[in-house]
Amino acid sequence: MTVHQIPNTIKTDSFWMPFTANRQFKKAPRLFSSAKGMYYTSVDGRQVIDGSAGLWCVNAGHGRPQIAAAVERQLSTLDFAPSFNMGHPLAFDFAERLAEIAPKGLDRVFFTNSGSESVDTALKIALAYHRAAGQPSRTRLIGRERGYHGVGFGGMSVGGMVANRRQFATHLPGVDHIRHTHDLARNAFAKDQPEHGAELADDVERMVALHGADTIAAVIVEPVPGSTAVLPAPKGYLQRLRELCTKHGILLIFDEVITGFGRLGTPFAANFYGVTPDMMTTAKGITNGTVPCGAVFTSRQIHDGLMVGPDNAMELFHGYTYSAHPVACAAGLATLDIYKDEALLTRGASLADYWRDALHSLKGLPNVVDIRNQGLMGAVEVAPRDGVVGARGYDIMVDCFNRGLYFRMSGDSLALSPPLIVEKSHIDDIVSILGDSIKRVA
Ligand code: PMP
Repeated sequence: MTVHQIPNTIKTDSFWMPFTANRQFKKAPRLFSSAKGMYYTSVDGRQVIDGSAGLWCVNAGHGRPQIAAAVERQLSTLDFAPSFNMGHPLAFDFAERLAEIAPKGLDRVFFTNSGSESVDTALKIALAYHRAAGQPSRTRLIGRERGYHGVGFGGMSVGGMVANRRQFATHLPGVDHIRHTHDLARNAFAKDQPEHGAELADDVERMVALHGADTIAAVIVEPVPGSTAVLPAPKGYLQRLRELCTKHGILLIFDEVITGFGRLGTPFAANFYGVTPDMMTTAKGITNGTVPCGAVFTSRQIHDGLMVGPDNAMELFHGYTYSAHPVACAAGLATLDIYKDEALLTRGASLADYWRDALHSLKGLPNVVDIRNQGLMGAVEVAPRDGVVGARGYDIMVDCFNRGLYFRMSGDSLALSPPLIVEKSHIDDIVSILGDSIKRVA
């Protein structure tokens, strides 16, 4: 296998890399030096197709001059302004523009700086909302096995990843989980939405039976879990979750950090599945990945439920120094302009069938145990090698990188989500490089 050389002027000791096997990585670092459109350029000068839109965030493709210009302009006019008891016009404009594209009814926007912060913010709003509504006993939070909701204690706790429990042990109390919908026995190689699994939403009834509805504040799920390997919602599943949450007065939160901003060929997964949650958490594509930013969209009912008490009392004791940062707002507004001008939030709809057929053409290659797709998301899952989860996926990822394709791996699932500017020829290239690597690594 080729090992790419990085300039020996780069010292790798100090940077403690996130979500990375540091020691392994630093033996043969994979480094990008620039990016344009669908491609990264590696430090050794190779073009590498971006098969994962960075980390599911560069939806309009790399190096958009309009965003760069907006950021530069903003930095030289108003580099920072507080949003605590002060403000700046861009923040209001940005929230209005987001509200325009939000699923109907979710038009109140609270700004954060990341997906993790959006999740913790939404969970706290859920708790505050029930208190304000005279139901302070509703404190329990329900997540889902295999859920990923970021790295804060709230998000980690409602998340369903064993690695977090192994490494950090302490999680929030009062959290429970419904079962995940990943089911290779019934749904392997399902195209688009899997047929089986809607009944798993009935786990909410089990939670209610076990804990009592009057103790449950919210259920949070990703419509399509991405970080845990792209698991499209089974047919009818989200509808059932919505019904049960409504029936029991439980708030439903969709974590749309990945699925937001066009990933499924609709602005949000809520539009795609035709199910409206009470809150939606977002980040990533909100600024095309350029400047850290996130947003929680809430219903008016939640927002207005908290706009109580004397006018001079703050309604929500929550916020971040960088909430509605002017530079993030400028980047976000420029991003929304691009999404609109190029109709990118719906572009995936016209490519989804091509994407699905291309990915499923890899069925039958050695060790491939499942292929999943939804909108412009997809995953090819290979069997673990000798029982070691992630080893084969890692080798395929490295081989692909060396041959000009970057994507995000999750265990042995090779997760794909190209920028929404992707053309059919790029899809062909992605699938061809991936298929060859799967064979080579076998
Ligand atoms: N929620 C979901 C569904 C995510 O996929 C992610 C990140 N991949 C997060 C939350 C956390 O976002 P961040 O890394 O920006 O904190």
